[in-house]
Amino acid sequence: MAAKKILLVEDEVTLTTRWAEALEAEGYDVFTALDGDAGWKMARGDSFDLILLDIMLPGLDGLSLCRMIRNDSASADVPIIMLTARGAEVDKIVGLESGADDYMVKPIGIGELLARVRVQMRRPPPDRGLNQDELTSGDLRLDLTARRIFRAGEEIKLSNKEFDLLTLFMRNQNAVLSRDFILTNVWGHDYFPMDKRTVDVHIRWLREKIEDNPSSPKRISTVRGVGYRFEG
Ligand code: CA
Repeated sequence: MAAKKILLVEDEVTLTTRWAEALEAEGYDVFTALDGDAGWKMARGDSFDLILLDIMLPGLDGLSLCRMIRNDSASADVPIIMLTARGAEVDKIVGLESGADDYMVKPIGIGELLARVRVQMRRPPPDRGLNQDELTSGDLRLDLTARRIFRAGEEIKLSNKEFDLLTLFMRNQNAVLSRDFILTNVWGHDYFPMDKRTVDVHIRWLREKIEDNPSSPKRISTVRGVGYRFEG
């Protein structure tokens, strides 16, 4: 398999060098850009599996660059991790809906950086509404664009995590999903300090909403010792 390609856009040369070395040691192909304009040229000119993007850059800033990458159909799906010097910028990353998948606040340890990169690399290609806007199974219909779910035409109210969980199941019908797989895909890096029973609790809630008889579930089965399976 070809090495996964990472674009690192960061103007602090010492950081760029250190991170590039650490990522290359993990087997990734790393490309670097020291300012926003160079980063944009590279992001447009090649396809990457992940982009690490500093916010404070000379020229084009990281948030603008992030939105430009998201709005360009050739690069719209690439996972982006934003790197920020100040916690205050986190509000901007989230509030402005820059389109970033994750963010890290400096100083960033190499171990943490590699862990976050691995999480993004393991995620299935995100569906940003470009390919599919609806998932169905039996009388369940998930509208991915509006994030609404209908059962036999009647809308069911789900929390965000329940919706993400059901989306993951309906994309992987009849496959056994382990708790780790579910945690990584639904909770992402947030799961590290979290208990695996979180999955069980959310599944119990979800069953109460989509099963005829939640104590004898027909749609989401428990696979003992492994995880869960959505019966398609
Ligand atoms: Ca910077």
